[in-house]
Amino acid sequence: DWSGLEVGYDVPALAGMALGDVQTPALVVDLDALERNLARMRAHAEAAGMRLRAHAKTHKSADIARLQMSKGGACGICCQKVSEAEAMVRAGISDILVTNEVRDPLKIDRLARLAKQARIIVCVDDPENIEPLSQAARRHGVTIEALVEIECGAGRCGIEPGPPAVRLALAVAAAEGLRFAGLQAYHGPAQHIADPVGRAAAIAAAADVTARTVLLLQDAGLDCDIVGGAGTGSFPFEARSGVYNELQCGSYVFMDADYERIRTEGGGRVGGFENALFVVASVMSLPAPGRAICDAGLKALAVDSGLPRVFDREGVRYAGASDEHGVLAIDGGVVAINERIRLVPGHCDPTCNLHDWIVAMRGETVETLWPVTARGKVF
Ligand code: PLP
Ligand code: MN
Repeated sequence: DWSGLEVGYDVPALAGMALGDVQTPALVVDLDALERNLARMRAHAEAAGMRLRAHAKTHKSADIARLQMSKGGACGICCQKVSEAEAMVRAGISDILVTNEVRDPLKIDRLARLAKQARIIVCVDDPENIEPLSQAARRHGVTIEALVEIECGAGRCGIEPGPPAVRLALAVAAAEGLRFAGLQAYHGPAQHIADPVGRAAAIAAAADVTARTVLLLQDAGLDCDIVGGAGTGSFPFEARSGVYNELQCGSYVFMDADYERIRTEGGGRVGGFENALFVVASVMSLPAPGRAICDAGLKALAVDSGLPRVFDREGVRYAGASDEHGVLAIDGGVVAINERIRLVPGHCDPTCNLHDWIVAMRGETVETLWPVTARGKVF
């Protein structure tokens, strides 16, 4: 029910509006492209015989998470933060892996409380984390599932694979209120290796240490329900590794200008995914020949992975961002005041976190509005 909401102040658009009337800068999803991306990822996971647990940190939207689970073949979602998980549980999502370590006592308590309403899985990489998690689970009368996160080449969190990981897993399995659920083996930097040979090598090395740890765990009497990892850039390699059984891809649902540069062995776009997320900007000044200024800068677009790409508009390039301005370089052709320019963000995840609303469009018409449910939930 959107009655009483003022377009412009409260929301960027209402259902039925045309793109040219949307208040900008606006975060826009092309529903047809989104649905095709969901179907593609579902087909990839099914072909590989793997579960998909879509990463919701990409969109932070409960509506998109629900679509991923209802139509997109996802068994559940991933969240990166406890507060993100809280927002998703409040919105009715019932199966969540927090792909992170949770160490702060209050955060551990909040995590345990969530497990009253949903299946909650968390990552651990340190024996010292076990007793606080176990105590919180007992305090709230819940079971928290835990994945042992191993360092598989990413240089981020994760205990050493092999015997140290097995010792940690045994301690998890022995702790009251906890359940050992498997391994987390996500290789972040591999996602963005543009060359498919380099990407394959990074994942082969990760899969190797993961496989050896799985075998040692079996020797110790522990089975892994979940061997999870993979993102949009690398998932075909985890899928064919024979080791992983859950994919955690997030960006596939939208694609961004950074991921467009990542190629398959055949030279195509990874997974065949297409652009479904845009920041729509309006031209607000034509100060000089060859230069137009639009209303989307750093507060509407994350530029950590590069500037946005102008979508479907010949001769226009996004050349620079300041807080509230985007500089467009015009190379031939004319750009008009108030013209809407579709920008493909360089990095989809932090871009979504800059917006309160997603304008969901079918073609040129607004179909619905979705809140960015977990916007700002970075705790
Ligand atoms: N899993 C973990 C642990 C992550 O940190 C990320 C993203 O950084 C993903 C999965 C999803 O990756 P992507 O957005 O590249 O698909
Ligand atoms: Mn990202």
